[in-house]
Amino acid sequence: MPAFGFDHSYARDLPGASVDQAPAPARAPRLLFLNEPLAAELGLDPAALRGESGAAIFSGNALPEDARPIAQAYAGHQFGGFSPQLGDGRALLLGELVDRSGRRRDLAFKGSGRTPFSRGGDGRAAVGPMLREVLVGEAMHALGIPTTRALAVAATGDWVFRESRLPGAVLTRVAASHLRVGSFQYFAARGDRAALQRLLDYAIARHDPALRDAPVPALALLQAVLARQAALVAQWLNVGFIHGVMNTDNMTISGETIDYGPCAFLEAYDPATVFSSIDHGGRYAYGRQPAMALWNLARLAEALLPLLVPPGRDEDEATVQAAIDQVHEVLDRFGPLHAAALLRGQRAKFGLAAAGPADTAADAALAERWLALLQAQRVDFTLAWRRLADAAEGDEAPLRALFGAAPGAPEAWLADWRLALARDDAAGAPAGAARAAAMRAASPFVIPRNHRVEEALAAASDGGELGPFERLLAALQRPYDETPEQAPYGEPAAPQVTACYQTF
Ligand code: AMP
Ligand code: MG
Ligand code: MG
Repeated sequence: MPAFGFDHSYARDLPGASVDQAPAPARAPRLLFLNEPLAAELGLDPAALRGESGAAIFSGNALPEDARPIAQAYAGHQFGGFSPQLGDGRALLLGELVDRSGRRRDLAFKGSGRTPFSRGGDGRAAVGPMLREVLVGEAMHALGIPTTRALAVAATGDWVFRESRLPGAVLTRVAASHLRVGSFQYFAARGDRAALQRLLDYAIARHDPALRDAPVPALALLQAVLARQAALVAQWLNVGFIHGVMNTDNMTISGETIDYGPCAFLEAYDPATVFSSIDHGGRYAYGRQPAMALWNLARLAEALLPLLVPPGRDEDEATVQAAIDQVHEVLDRFGPLHAAALLRGQRAKFGLAAAGPADTAADAALAERWLALLQAQRVDFTLAWRRLADAAEGDEAPLRALFGAAPGAPEAWLADWRLALARDDAAGAPAGAARAAAMRAASPFVIPRNHRVEEALAAASDGGELGPFERLLAALQRPYDETPEQAPYGEPAAPQVTACYQTF
């Protein structure tokens, strides 16, 4: 196949961080999804990627001639336990493209067969989970949340064996990079300081070039990653996203959300919500995500520690202690950064455009009480914010209706919210319809509702019927629009459906 214009800086600059590996052939490839706007953004010609040639390319049967597929090595803490070698067990990096805005992006397959890192796995993926990654990734993108994105999904025509026999597929993923916390842990665990240094230099060149001349580059990168993750997790919380498997191999250096496996969105607000069937202890419950992000960042800090101690000084206690103190100082910034990002998002959703530092404590308390109210009455998180915009225009009935048997429950809170709005008005912020419009631009109407996602995946997987998937995708791409055609996608599932929902 014609060249894509790939570069291979990862393979070139980081010896020992990957192995060459060809994708497994697909028996009868068929293109299920092509992200044409993303293809264009990457400087590719969408017309050349459709139909049979797209199926051949994106199944791995006929790679662009300049692709150099490699499996990346990484380590990681999975549910708290460390594996010194995980690596791409079912993924392959094809290469990097510099997109139309000059950004370097990875193109990688997922589900393209076994690699030396596969351990017991078959290296394959099923149609359902790959289309799920399309839906959730595109939803996150439309919500303005940093994320990897799907360029294409090709069915392979082969079966994969899970609890049952399922149709196989390969996803082509686009990412700012696939560097993870676990990439650093891999070389740290091997005691390979030189490789760790090369990885640091590579990560800084790729994601934080301005930090190249920082006094302590390893510390500067830690700070940059921490700031991105603090903001990212705040964005997750403000749309009700539960990642589900925040292992250190699933946390990027770029600050993009990655690895849409058992993820799902909250319906009724409850910070203890867990959907993943393998998360028995609730380690990655909705409300624990900030703490888990910080835990992962502490593991990144540990991995970077050798670079903070000059060579030959690692037996010198004072030197090591000074490095640890520096790291703690950076890690301590996570809490305030995350809280500020969370409140920034909440204020936009509350319609408080003119809030200043003096209002921080009061607004944070307002947010806390609002969430407690939603939790107590098991109110749908997404719709509650949306109906608050109606209340800003004077129509409180839709909001009260969400409180079911207790329509008066938000009374006292609403009075305090109105005081905050009055304060905002006095500071010159727009009121009425303008405020409501701004609130609706900060709180989506359509999120990937679990029952809608399952319905779309079941149709695609069981009957090869892509209509429900395509219609849901179209709705998710306009998350703030509340039109009659969007309405079915904004409706929550019946509570009994959500109560037993599980992801895998
Ligand atoms: P994940 O939980 O998706 O981040 O995967 C964790 C590790 O398991 C990574 O090393 C994956 O490459 C590997 N893995 C997951 N599923 C499979 C599979 N079907 N075959 C081989 N390796 C897999
Ligand atoms: Mg992963
Ligand atoms: Mg996964």
